[in-house]
Amino acid sequence: MTTLRPNFWQFALNKLTNDEWEALCDGCGVCCLIKYLDDDDVALTEYTDVACQLLDCTTGHCSNYQHRKRHVPDCIRLTPEMVPDMMWLPRHCAYKRLHLGQGLPSWHYLVAGQARHDKAMDKVGVRGRCVSEKGLSDDVIEERIVTWVKI
Ligand code: SF4
Ligand code: SF4
Repeated sequence: MTTLRPNFWQFALNKLTNDEWEALCDGCGVCCLIKYLDDDDVALTEYTDVACQLLDCTTGHCSNYQHRKRHVPDCIRLTPEMVPDMMWLPRHCAYKRLHLGQGLPSWHYLVAGQARHDKAMDKVGVRGRCVSEKGLSDDVIEERIVTWVKI
């Protein structure tokens, strides 16, 4: 059974239960896009609209989240310790925002009392606007840089 403390997102990231930690993710799917990181300047990170092979681009969901590491070994399992080094995450990402002391955005499903993947996802999520990496060459992927991901 999932138990979430009231307003748990106001606690430090490393004080959250596993359920609370998982609940922070709004499911936007942006971190599942192929991107090019800049070692010197995170602001120069370039995102493509090409998604991991396991992402369902229609729903924006990982199609096998529970067993994803079997299929995509380098899928990142985010922890509180990793967040400071992951500032390439989109600016709306709850983990990044809470690390930076910004709080959750007002539209976040935990704050707004909506279901995950509500209309707010149309603005920030990948649902309906990405393609799978399956069958795409590196050259083609490099041509698919997008500007709608805001870091
Ligand atoms: S970018 Fe953040 S909020 Fe979006 S899916 Fe990834 S971890 Fe979740
Ligand atoms: S395995 Fe699933 S969660 Fe991991 S990057 Fe791919 S689609 Fe995203």
